[in-house]
Amino acid sequence: MSAIVRGDRLRSGHDFHFLVEEWDRLCEDRGWKKTVIAEVDELPVFAVENGIASEGGKDGIYVSAGVHGDECAPPWALLEWAESLTEADEGRPMLLFPCLNPVGIVDNTRMDQDGVDLNRNFQNPDIPVIGAWQEFLEGRSFQMAVNLHEDYDATGIYLYELARSEPIGDKLLSACEDLIRRETSDLVDGSDFQNGLMQREVDDESLREVVERDLEGGWPEAIWLYLHYSKDSFTFETPSEMALDKRVATHRRFLEVVSKRCTHCPE
Ligand SMILES: [Zn+2]
Repeated sequence: MSAIVRGDRLRSGHDFHFLVEEWDRLCEDRGWKKTVIAEVDELPVFAVENGIASEGGKDGIYVSAGVHGDECAPPWALLEWAESLTEADEGRPMLLFPCLNPVGIVDNTRMDQDGVDLNRNFQNPDIPVIGAWQEFLEGRSFQMAVNLHEDYDATGIYLYELARSEPIGDKLLSACEDLIRRETSDLVDGSDFQNGLMQREVDDESLREVVERDLEGGWPEAIWLYLHYSKDSFTFETPSEMALDKRVATHRRFLEVVSKRCTHCPE
């Protein structure tokens, strides 16, 4: 299955215009606030906030998807998860970026319209989308930041966990592995993993050094969020060569289980 199933319709996973239409409909239904923070090649980069977040509520959940355009399951999973939220879930501030790299999604490329990997540039306000994103986040704080990604080299799911709270990464992966099993390799994208999990237990200064040394000062969204805005940070990945419907279901499951851990979330 390489298409997205919506009701009785099939759409390409790279149909960005349809994704925007679906978010517009959902925001109107729920009274959520949609803000276009930037436009790239006439396509909108937008944020979605629920009522409590748009009124300044802090320490809820942040989720972003579509930073890499060749990873198309996350934006649809985020939409499905958002559609499934109940009134009770509205007690938790929620800020979503459904697709940070729209041109990448349309073109099915990792990079943006200028050939830039946004996920190595979250420190760089000279990139218009990043500058707008940084401005939008000013003064905000989150209990958890969740970044959804995919990996074409992976054979299973894996998770980067940066936590000041008690680590929960293993439990989160356990809740998803009936859909797609865990990555078995000890080395993923150049990092040491154990049973699909990489938990960094380092202080903030050491983490800055890691970014400067290993990533040549190119900041991923997850680490930037962790050091500036969020208590905990999770980056969840699915293998992008697997069937799309399975990848969407797995990201959605991850969002369901991780969001229940947000203490703002009602029991
Ligand atoms: Zn990615």
